[in-house]
Amino acid sequence: MKEELLNVITAADTALVPDSIFELTHFVNGKWLVYDEEMALERISPATGKVVSRLSRGDEKVAKEAILAARQAFEDGRWSRLPGAKRAAILNQVADLIENKKEHFAIYETLETGKPITQARSEIDAAIDLWRFAASLARTLNGESHPNLDPDIFAFVIKEPVGVASIITPWNFPFLILSQKLPFALAAGCTAIVKPSELTSATAIMLGQLLTKANMPDGVVNIVLGLGGEVGHTLSAHSEVDVVSFTGSTNVGKLIVQASASTLKKTSLELGGKNPQVIMPDANLEEAADAIVFGTLFNAGQCCNSGSRLIVHQDIKEELLHRLGNLIRKVPIGNPLNSQTKVGAIISDEHSESIDACIRSLSQTNAKIFVGGRPLLLEGLTGRFYEPTIVVDVDPAMDVSRQEIFGPVLSVLTFETFDQAVQLANDTSYGLSAGIWSENVHTCLSFIRQVKAGTVWTNTWMDGFPELPFGGVKESGIGRELGKYGIEEFLELKTCQMRVGATREKWV
Ligand code: NAD
Repeated sequence: MKEELLNVITAADTALVPDSIFELTHFVNGKWLVYDEEMALERISPATGKVVSRLSRGDEKVAKEAILAARQAFEDGRWSRLPGAKRAAILNQVADLIENKKEHFAIYETLETGKPITQARSEIDAAIDLWRFAASLARTLNGESHPNLDPDIFAFVIKEPVGVASIITPWNFPFLILSQKLPFALAAGCTAIVKPSELTSATAIMLGQLLTKANMPDGVVNIVLGLGGEVGHTLSAHSEVDVVSFTGSTNVGKLIVQASASTLKKTSLELGGKNPQVIMPDANLEEAADAIVFGTLFNAGQCCNSGSRLIVHQDIKEELLHRLGNLIRKVPIGNPLNSQTKVGAIISDEHSESIDACIRSLSQTNAKIFVGGRPLLLEGLTGRFYEPTIVVDVDPAMDVSRQEIFGPVLSVLTFETFDQAVQLANDTSYGLSAGIWSENVHTCLSFIRQVKAGTVWTNTWMDGFPELPFGGVKESGIGRELGKYGIEEFLELKTCQMRVGATREKWV
């Protein structure tokens, strides 16, 4: 891509940048552990290269301390035996406190992730809504009754909190994903240990600072910072943990299942995706093109729901590519602290290198770069950015068509019949989300029925609501978040059968 065609923005709103480096430490049993400078990890802003925060690097010992605090808090009923209305009141109070500080949350989210500030603000708003939605579930939680089984039997099924929940989250939507899990675990009556990504820990700690103000009892929520292989592993393997709720890569998801296997814990896994968008010949191409660009570039493509696999009908391929090429060049890329920016930085040097290595490897194949394909150097910014990239003439067997690249890269495949489109859409080990663009409702419904994915969009992409469940099939995950199902991951069923009438018929 010629750089003069890129809509680049570098000026930042410097008033948003805090003066000092945020020092983060663990929150265990209602207390802040001493910040350990010797063991601190540094978080450098991906956009500017400046240090944003330093975090104590936890280890097995701190993780165990947090697990035991959560266990104690669960067993003595200080949270699990509170009436739902009281739990809901505290969750709503937490939501109000986050709302009072939402600009502060958004700024740290932007500084640590490199995502645009306007996007970070929307994510914090969505997170607040999730705390309120989960509060409503705490009040309405109920089981089922079976009065018609037998005249002398009354049976019912009650839902009880699973117990201690480990919550392990990724860097790409730090506070939003934490809020897809923690308030639901709390609404169920569980206690928790949270481990945010080592790259983006600030907002989890800000939350910890608000919990005491909201009268959350000590030990109900514990936060341990550090690396996945150390803290995360302990949180997945320890016998006093009852459920692990994880969002992250499919590879780490498999490690978590292995670590949790010795105690057969419940696991809930939200993993990667290589999500297909099928474009039928009767699609509204103007609308589809905009949504495809959004689905490719949102969060710089570092998104589990990225619509990274375009499956377009042969007859409209040229027209659609023309539209995509024009649109993608208009998207403002640049300093995340500028409110005009729509695409920010890539999370780390290693990740930027892995995106570029995938693109460079295409020179050994028949695939061609239609737009982009290089790291992007922006004047005045020392961070990592990547050109929005469209790859054409892709073979379904290539890595660029099958692997999650997790960058602003769109792979384009073509088809001639609807059945071929469905076959291509399902030709992946992932099954997170999928979409189709067609003006024919029968075509859309047929696709919904045949595609293997946890979420299907027709004539739209990446809408989401707290009321709707979210999760994947195949190697995109196990279980569901959000909606009324989001709380179920943190509940166990207990079946109760009471003899209430005539005495039991003797067996002997
Ligand atoms: P990651 O798997 O590298 O890390 C996620 C979390 O797991 C981090 O907190 C990390 O410290 C921890 N971790 C790492 N190794 C561990 C181990 N051995 N045991 C326990 N914990 C460990 O993922 P990431 O790079 O932070 O995030 C990107 C990935 O997350 C992508 O694959 C993306 O698709 C996926 N994701 C999925 C969803 C979804 O809802 N399906 C949402 C967002 C991101």
